[in-house]
Amino acid sequence: MTRTGRCACGAVAWETDADPIWSGHCHCESCRRASSAAVTSFFGVPRTSVTWIGDPATRESSPGVTRGYCAKCGTQMFYQNVIWPEETHLFAATLDDVSLFVPEAHYHYAERVPWLHVQDDLPKHPASADDPA
Ligand SMILES: [Zn+2]
Ligand SMILES: [Zn+2]
Repeated sequence: MTRTGRCACGAVAWETDADPIWSGHCHCESCRRASSAAVTSFFGVPRTSVTWIGDPATRESSPGVTRGYCAKCGTQMFYQNVIWPEETHLFAATLDDVSLFVPEAHYHYAERVPWLHVQDDLPKHPASADDPA
């Protein structure tokens, strides 16, 4: 299935035919600040599967982490980490059809904000997916 997404102004868009490797909500402080949102919803796909229309600008948000964004409107577009060199993480909120996102877990739940109360039944990992829920 083809998934497509774009930034707020439309200057940057992406497309992938790959199924997500994983998908979930990230509560870490780095994502929170980068996206100005309490929770960042992501899914990972093979990096080679993503076609970009327009050129996302990039910055290193922490050592080994590259975040891509639209230089025109500022929308966050992707996350890449040297520890997962084969993956690009795309933001569910940039999907053209947001119903194509099916979250499987919460990550970095220990860093969550105190004023959002999550009541779903998904696993809630204190840190990354490697930690027990
Ligand atoms: Zn834009
Ligand atoms: Zn995060």
